Amino acid sequence: GTTGVRSLETVGLTKAFGGVLALDAATVAFQHGRVNALIGPNGSGKTTFFNCVTGMIRPDSGRTSYRDRDITRKAPHAIARAGVGRTFQLCRVFPRMSALDNVLAAARTTGPWSQLRGARRGTEVDRARGWLTRLGIEHLADVEARNMSWGQQKLLELAGVLMSDPDTVLLDEPAGGVNPALLDRIGALVRELNAEGRTFVIVEHNMELVMSISDHIVVFDRGRPIAEGPPSVIRSDERVLGAYLGV
Ligand code: ADP
Repeated sequence: GTTGVRSLETVGLTKAFGGVLALDAATVAFQHGRVNALIGPNGSGKTTFFNCVTGMIRPDSGRTSYRDRDITRKAPHAIARAGVGRTFQLCRVFPRMSALDNVLAAARTTGPWSQLRGARRGTEVDRARGWLTRLGIEHLADVEARNMSWGQQKLLELAGVLMSDPDTVLLDEPAGGVNPALLDRIGALVRELNAEGRTFVIVEHNMELVMSISDHIVVFDRGRPIAEGPPSVIRSDERVLGAYLGV
């Protein structure tokens, strides 16, 4: 990928819930073309960061830009259309819909721009089946999401996100609750999709996965970044160890 180009960037992003400062003037820049990870102890503001940059909650102050375009006040669908896709920690799929219908439904929520782009590469159904195949769950196309394993549901959610052909994909705990075999597949998939030009920002607690798939790691503590760098540096950073051990 092209490193040096900015993907998602925030300047002074701040969000308080009552007396709790979830984001404390967080200034972060994720580069295009990388697998970026966002790590930090529970309550350090990672989910709030994702929610702010995807337009799901409004920051109290600060700015967000994507590829140098301001997206601070944009609605979630507009941010998705600009090329930023995301998955959720608690996996958003429709339990009583088949896998195929879930992927089609996800595609519809991101609207005309993605449909226009998709139209050049065959019908929506072909593309949906294509993503299910790519993610190794095509045999479950007609199975209701509720009858799939947790890991399979996460892959299904990702298939839906990929339908809008996002340049940047935010993954919220992709490994959480997923069995080890599927974990390897998710890791390999992220690297493959990245090699094809997609940028990732991944919130993840599984350090083995983070260290093995990331190019760049940003560490949050108390609502702001305290360290960043490649896995080799982050692994031995004293501030990181301190944040996790509560020193
Ligand atoms: P992380 O994802 O790193 O675990 P969060 O962004 O979920 O951190 O939370 C950061 C802080 O903000 C925590 O203290 C959390 O309790 C608080 N918080 C997050 N969302 C809300 C909310 N909707 N209402 C009140 N407090 C919240």
